[in-house]
Amino acid sequence: MKILLIMANGNIHALRIGSFTKSFREAPLTMTTLAGLVPPDLNAHIHIHDENVEKLDPPKYLNYDLIAISAMTGTAVRAYEIADYYRRHGKTVVLGGIHVSIYPEEAKEHADCIVVGYAEKIWPMLLRDFVQKKMKARYDCPDESELENLPHARRDLQNSLRYVMPNTIMATRGCPHVCDFCTIPVVSKKYSKRPVNEIAAEVATLKGKRFAINDVSLIEDREWSIALFKQLAPLKKVWGGLCVFKIYKDKELMHWLKKSGCKYMLVGFESLSQHALKTIYKGFNQVEDYQEGMKVFHDHGIAIQGCFVFGFDHDTQNVFAETVEQVNKLKIDIPRYSIYTPYPETALFKRLVNENRVLTKDWSLYDTQHVVIRPANMTPEKLHEGFRWAYQETFKFLSISKRTIQANLDWPITFVGNLAYNIYVKRLYSTEVYVQPAFYEMIGNGHTHKEAVKQLGMNSVWLPDQLETR
Ligand code: SF4
Repeated sequence: MKILLIMANGNIHALRIGSFTKSFREAPLTMTTLAGLVPPDLNAHIHIHDENVEKLDPPKYLNYDLIAISAMTGTAVRAYEIADYYRRHGKTVVLGGIHVSIYPEEAKEHADCIVVGYAEKIWPMLLRDFVQKKMKARYDCPDESELENLPHARRDLQNSLRYVMPNTIMATRGCPHVCDFCTIPVVSKKYSKRPVNEIAAEVATLKGKRFAINDVSLIEDREWSIALFKQLAPLKKVWGGLCVFKIYKDKELMHWLKKSGCKYMLVGFESLSQHALKTIYKGFNQVEDYQEGMKVFHDHGIAIQGCFVFGFDHDTQNVFAETVEQVNKLKIDIPRYSIYTPYPETALFKRLVNENRVLTKDWSLYDTQHVVIRPANMTPEKLHEGFRWAYQETFKFLSISKRTIQANLDWPITFVGNLAYNIYVKRLYSTEVYVQPAFYEMIGNGHTHKEAVKQLGMNSVWLPDQLETR
C-alpha cells in the first residue's frame, strides 16, 4: 500500500530565497506522527509532502492508494482543492486536522473519509479498515486520548533541509486557558502530558544539538515541567518552545528551565493594554510584569519571541506606534505581529458574527495577515496599514540591533529570526492584501480572487497558491 500524507499550503511565514523555499517555522509534527503510527505489518510505502516548503505536483502521486490531507482553517480551501483533484482521479482521500474537526460537515463534501479530533488512536484502525475495504466515512477520536507509548515521529521521512528547525517533538497537548481568538479550546477541553521519560528518550534519539517542543503551552503543570527539565538537562541539548509569560516568577522552575538547555520561548503578550487582555480572557498576562519578566528570561539566557495582536476592540490607531516603541524598550528579541482573526467557532467568531462584523468566511484569508473583520475603532484599511507599518519599523536593522544585543543569548536564533522577518516585511510591502469590503463582497457573490482583483484594479496580490491540476 502507498500512502501520501500532505500538509496543505498555508502561505504563512515562509522564508523564500530564490527558487529554494526554507520554512521559517519548525518542521510540523502532524504528518511525521501519522507516519509513525502506520502499523508496520501493513508494509506501507509512505511519502510526506509539506506544501509550505515544496511545490506539489499532484499527478506525480496518482499511483498512491490513500491520500491523507491535514487542514487548518487558513489552508482548508487549498486542502479541499487538492482533495477534489485526487477524488476526480479515483483516489481515496482522508481529510483531518483542526478545521475538519470544527466543520466536519463542510469537509466531508471533499473527502471519502474525515477524521474528527486527534487521530492517533483512530489512524491505525482507519488504515486497517481501508485495507479490508470497509473504511467508514467518518472517524471520531475521543478527546480523552492518553499520550502514553506513542511511537516516535518519522522525521526520516520529512525533507529536513527545508526547515530552519527540523527536530520537533510533542510533549503536551491542549491548553487550560480560553483566549477568545484561539482554536485550541474549541477542539480540545483537555490538557494532556506525555510521560517525561518517554519525551527524554525521544529527544535522545534526535540528530544534532538543537530541537523544538512545538506544543501550544508547554509549562502549565509545574511539577511535571520540572521533572521534564531535570531529565532533559543531562542530554546537553539546546531547545525552544512556547509558554505563558507568568512562569518567570517561579525561581525553581526557571532554574531547571535554564539547566535543561532552553534558549528561546515564544510568548503571547498579545497587548499592552490590561483592559484588552481582560476582554480576550487573557488577564493572566500582567502588562506591569513585562519589563521585569523580560529581564528574568534574559538573565537565564532565554530569548523571547513575543507575539502581539492588532485590531482588538480597544485598539485605536495609536496602538501601532505604542507597540513598536514598547517592543524596543522591552528588548523583545523576535517580535511578531498578527491581525485579530476570528477563527471558526471561537468565542471571538461567535461574538463578531452576532455583531455582523465578520467581513468574509473565505477561509484562505484566515491567516492573521489579512483583515477579515470590521475593527471597532478604525477601518479595515487602517488596521492593515498599521500592521504593515509596525512590521517595517520593528525590523529595520537599527531597531534589530538595539533590541538584540544581549551578551548572554544564543545569537544564531535571534539573528536568523530577525533576518527572516526583515525579508518577510519586504514581501508584505511588495503585495497588495485584500482589505476592501468591495473585494469581500465580490468573493461573497461567487467571484474568484483573481476576478475580484482584476475588476477592482488591484495591481499585485498575495494570492493563496493556485493548484495546477487541470
Ligand atoms: S492563545 Fe495560548 S494561552 Fe490562550 S488558549 Fe490558546 S494556546 Fe492557550
